Amino acid sequence: MRTHDRLRIAIQKSGRLSDPARDLLARAGLSFRESRDRLFCYGESLPIDLLLVRDDDIPGLIAEGVCDLGVVGQNVLAEQAAEREAAGQDEAYQIVRSLGFGRCRLSVAVPNEWEWSGNARLDGTRIATSYPNLLTRWLREQGIAAEAVVLSGSVEIAPRLGKAESICDLVSSGATLQANQLKEVAVILESEAVLAGPAKPFADVRADLASMLLRRLDGVLSVKASKLLLFQAKRSALSEIMKLLPDAEPPTVMPIEGRSEEVALQALCRTAMTWQRLEDMKRAGASGLLVLPVEQMLA
Ligand code: ATP
Ligand code: MG
Repeated sequence: MRTHDRLRIAIQKSGRLSDPARDLLARAGLSFRESRDRLFCYGESLPIDLLLVRDDDIPGLIAEGVCDLGVVGQNVLAEQAAEREAAGQDEAYQIVRSLGFGRCRLSVAVPNEWEWSGNARLDGTRIATSYPNLLTRWLREQGIAAEAVVLSGSVEIAPRLGKAESICDLVSSGATLQANQLKEVAVILESEAVLAGPAKPFADVRADLASMLLRRLDGVLSVKASKLLLFQAKRSALSEIMKLLPDAEPPTVMPIEGRSEEVALQALCRTAMTWQRLEDMKRAGASGLLVLPVEQMLA
């Protein structure tokens, strides 16, 4: 029986989500000692340990209380939540934070040569998928009478093998679909990696550890997109310039020695600065524009 004085987070052992998940935790100041079997990593900087597992196992580990939190695709979490719902079980997990990486969508794709007249085209067909619960729920909501054929991998070749007429699978760039002469016709779920936790809050020291981790993660997540913008401008041009920065915090305004008409400004912007935005600012009267990355932030 594990004691509850440490927090345990499950992440994918190897795959698309492992590096971004480890990177995110490292940026939040967590460091780990790797074990020989590389399944368990002991938290050195904080009492927060890692368990390295297959992504499909993460929701179950949270439901059983083997892990406290997990970094997993919303697609995996939603499929297993739908499975529990179909079996009449209680909700076992909740999304604690969306993490902004691992973006993809769960979509229905049909052979290129199909003329697509709408969802009714799927009536009476077979759809190959590894997401039978999400697909079945969507089919029911849409009133489509199609059969879900469950495959655990290589779903995209099912139509060529004659196992199904179309597929329901994860898509990001669409290159895999294209290579298999398939076209996307409906999006069932938009997904990204999330930090998932149990439906019920922690009632021991893990609650404090989790809230500290979340505060740090919030800092890391907002820092990622943020830029510090430094520039100078005439006081009279300021209101026009600030209209171009709707996502900026109220700027710090500083006088410039010997130039009473002008001020120096410092503003934190929450979204990406593009060349277009900088050029628009310059036209509105800003000069000496500097865009700096933000290293750390604690609100
Ligand atoms: P595991 O061995 O852990 O079960 P896996 O093969 O199921 O690995 P990966 O292919 O590494 O998993 O994908 C992990 C997650 O990455 C997916 O569940 C999904 O949330 C996300 N993802 C983002 N883009 C894609 C994509 N184009 N195809 C598949 N998954 C994607
Ligand atoms: Mg998997």
